[in-house]
Amino acid sequence: MLSLKEKERYQRQLILKGFGEKAQEVLKKSRVAIFGLGGLGSPVSLYLAASGVGHLYLFDYQRVELSNLNRQILYQTKDVGEEKSEVAKKALLALNPEIEVESYSQRLEEAVEIWKEADLLIDCLDNLEGRLFLNKFAVKQRKPLISAGVEGWNGYLYTYLPQKTSCLNCIFGEKTNKEGIFPVIGVTPGILGMLEAAEAIKYLLSMEVSSAGQILFFNLESFSFNLIKVRKNSSCEVCR
Ligand SMILES: [Zn+2]
Repeated sequence: MLSLKEKERYQRQLILKGFGEKAQEVLKKSRVAIFGLGGLGSPVSLYLAASGVGHLYLFDYQRVELSNLNRQILYQTKDVGEEKSEVAKKALLALNPEIEVESYSQRLEEAVEIWKEADLLIDCLDNLEGRLFLNKFAVKQRKPLISAGVEGWNGYLYTYLPQKTSCLNCIFGEKTNKEGIFPVIGVTPGILGMLEAAEAIKYLLSMEVSSAGQILFFNLESFSFNLIKVRKNSSCEVCR
């Protein structure tokens, strides 16, 4: 049951067509793990917290740096030097004290046991190695995985649904990890993170997820958006 305060907080989405209190209660019972609390993880976690997803697991082992602040909108200048996972947890609970937030300042491979509790995994990482590690876990544990990546004005979005779609390894398995600092303007992960959050809400509410089995590529400079069907790679070592 939703409290009076919750009904007021979520009033504008409760009146969405086909939404209502039942959908809000589904969100409240949902458990979502967010990997990476940077340019993508900031909007993902803020919007999922604001919409009332009841339990968020946050994973990031890094500390806030001044050069993060052009895009990582969870943090303020005073947070430089602090652990991202802790600052993020405080910010999200300040926004919505009705939800529960667990934060972990560990490397990915050290936190695997905790991921098993989540209904949905969201990849907000900035490296291919981490993505493919998450993907392997998602396929093995049959967990849905929403993934996004950015560089410059470019971004992609893709959702893996267990036993229904190709996995990330089918798409990126043969690419090599890029090392070092890459350019990015804050609006690119901003928009992409919001798309990830939108797809997450749709998945949790059993709505059709448009990016499942189809990859969105966009470039904000030329304002081009392309949705491309992804075929299963029959030689994929992860999902075949
Ligand atoms: Zn695959």
